[in-house]
Amino acid sequence: KDFRNNVKPNWCPGCGDFSVQAAIQRAAANVGLEPENLAVVSGIGCSGRISGYINSYGFHGIHGRSLPIAQGVKMANKDLTVIASGGDGDGFAIGLGHTIHAIRRNIDVTYIVMDNQIYGLTKGQTSPRSEVGFKTKSTPQGSIESSLSVMEMALTAGATFVAQSFSTDLKDLTSLIEQGINHKGFSLINVFSPCVTYNKVNTYDWFKENLTKLADIEGYDAHNKVSAMQTLMEHNGLVTGLIYQNKDQQSYQDLVPNYSEEPLAKADLQLDEEQFNALVKEFM
Ligand code: SF4
Repeated sequence: KDFRNNVKPNWCPGCGDFSVQAAIQRAAANVGLEPENLAVVSGIGCSGRISGYINSYGFHGIHGRSLPIAQGVKMANKDLTVIASGGDGDGFAIGLGHTIHAIRRNIDVTYIVMDNQIYGLTKGQTSPRSEVGFKTKSTPQGSIESSLSVMEMALTAGATFVAQSFSTDLKDLTSLIEQGINHKGFSLINVFSPCVTYNKVNTYDWFKENLTKLADIEGYDAHNKVSAMQTLMEHNGLVTGLIYQNKDQQSYQDLVPNYSEEPLAKADLQLDEEQFNALVKEFM
């Protein structure tokens, strides 16, 4: 079960995304998947390249659209474990609508966001996760918009699995991805993944100083939504670990008639070549 391939990532040396790639590869192996059982779908951004760096099915989609594709893959083939991935600009700006609706749909997809509070691929602009006062080429006098509180937003939208991690905590991150894969429903894992080239504020040292591990908060209960929300607000969202999980809510798949039968992707369409070509043409 080797989820490594021979493609060399072209991320900058020190980019947090390397650890996320390693964590996905380890988690997939630890939960007993084979490469042909995993599909990794990504959007656009530095982190979007990750689908090409893992030995599995991969789909590098368009900006902000990793979730619609990932959900389609899961609906067409229930036998695949589906991971959607991308950056904070991808998932919390252009793709935010998809994120909210996938959350409330509780579809069985694990969404891993590499959150670096900046647009890296386009050489450093302010993102929806940048703090007030953050200076970049797009906000040279400092951002006047407040940062989107994504974990609180996910809880409000009805998420059944919400977790956050830091890319250097490889062991914890791997464990959270394993838990997300095993969760029957939508799992959102936001990973602080520093952009060493363009974000000179939210650095590795900054996160080490500012993050609190939920495991260090005495009596923290990841099954209590009210306390999860309260803890997030008290720490300005800067916590790591399993924030909230509800194992009792049915997933989208549980409620779709006939979903548990033969996957659509394996169905015998009983079409001859002419009929098949006509069908494909309808979608072109
Ligand atoms: Fe990573 Fe930033 Fe380099 Fe992109 S620009 S690869 S996010 S360090």
